Amino acid sequence: MTDVTEAAARRERILRAAVRQGVLDPERSALAGFVDLDGLADTVGALHRAFPGGPRVLHAFAAKANSLVPVLAELRSLGMGCEVATGGELDRARAAGFEPDRIVFDSPAKTRAELERALSLGVMINVDNFQELSRIDTLLAGDTPRSRIGVRVNPQLGGGTIAAMSTATQTSKFGIPLADPGSRHRLIEAYRERPWLTWVHTHAGSQGCPLELMAQAVAQAVEFAEEVNRGREEPQVTGIDIGGGLPVNFAGDEVTPGFDAYVDQLNEHVPDLFSGRYEIVTEFGRSVLAKNGFTAAHVEYTKSAGGRSIAVTHAGVQVATRTVFNPDAWPLRITAHGPDGGVKHGTPVRQDIAGPACFAGDLLARDRALPSLEPGDIVVLPDTGAYYFSTPFHYNSLPEPAVYGVRTDGDEVRFELVRPAQEPYDGTVPALRHGDLVHR
Ligand SMILES: *Cc1c(COP(=O)(O)O)cnc(C)c1O
Repeated sequence: MTDVTEAAARRERILRAAVRQGVLDPERSALAGFVDLDGLADTVGALHRAFPGGPRVLHAFAAKANSLVPVLAELRSLGMGCEVATGGELDRARAAGFEPDRIVFDSPAKTRAELERALSLGVMINVDNFQELSRIDTLLAGDTPRSRIGVRVNPQLGGGTIAAMSTATQTSKFGIPLADPGSRHRLIEAYRERPWLTWVHTHAGSQGCPLELMAQAVAQAVEFAEEVNRGREEPQVTGIDIGGGLPVNFAGDEVTPGFDAYVDQLNEHVPDLFSGRYEIVTEFGRSVLAKNGFTAAHVEYTKSAGGRSIAVTHAGVQVATRTVFNPDAWPLRITAHGPDGGVKHGTPVRQDIAGPACFAGDLLARDRALPSLEPGDIVVLPDTGAYYFSTPFHYNSLPEPAVYGVRTDGDEVRFELVRPAQEPYDGTVPALRHGDLVHR
């Protein structure tokens, strides 16, 4: 795994090359995203090595963390599958070339049409609730599905430090609760009546959930599977989908916790998971991509107000939405660079790092100690490879910036366009044609 100083040096090297090659330019493109494809290959390698079991483990990347099709295609070529949570993500996974049996469809709101499509493609499905189960009954009309189908269970164990990211709470909207009166029994019956229910799925939450809580949720899923299988000659449940959720260290370059630390916890809390009786699917998103991407933006102006130094940059709420609206839950590091991309070494000065949007809260960081920024300097936001590039916010008609994949080959740094910058508004006014509303 990349060590700490190496990670910073790699970003600086990429940034210098981006300036030199005109990928980042104060006049033409003062904001861009970068995905380190070499780093990504290292991370996926670490993930594969951490889980014993080879072909019986499918690591399905959670597409919502970075749904750019070339990035998904890269993950496919590195041996991953893909977890999708909407029809739109399913389209993207297909466009990236994933085979249907390496795609997992999770959504709490699957429409009939989406279910029909998933079943006819043979995409794996995790059912969210009893009503969805009845819908699948109707669609199957007694046939055996090609898709592997499981049910998402909610072990109701409690949340982590970020409420919006916690899905194993008492009242979570996801999955079928296991601890509510009668619920577990009803689900056991549902499995008994449907021999094609052969998987159990859980995902306890994302960033902010302790590893122990995640492992306990998986333990509950396995225990449920064992209960379904008890007393049968041939086990009915043959696979466990353990979800994603491995948290990421946003405070520094150290990759902690690593996938192997989570596997240690799983071994401790759920030894049966690795008994060989179950196939395993994982759905990691943030831990695969966050540290392999960064955002860079030029400083346009600097000023001072009420004794506070302020640097106005081109990165703000349009690319760091969660950080701007919820800075305590989603703090980002910022590094200061000169116009050539080289790291600035001046005495740290407390500054607000502002974005371009027209509201006062559009700040990437408040009162942050950094070398004094000047117009033309560049700020870098490390750890933005997951949930930043694919989660744009269109406030103020700010365009989505270009995102580049980066590969290094000896001394050469090569950039591949992964997503072009959004086109400027072309002046057209959408016209509502007569009858549009009536016939749709
Ligand atoms: C969001 C999500 C994931 C990925 O979570 P990460 O924290 O990015 O690893 C996996 N599975 C489901 C069902 C999700 O909703």
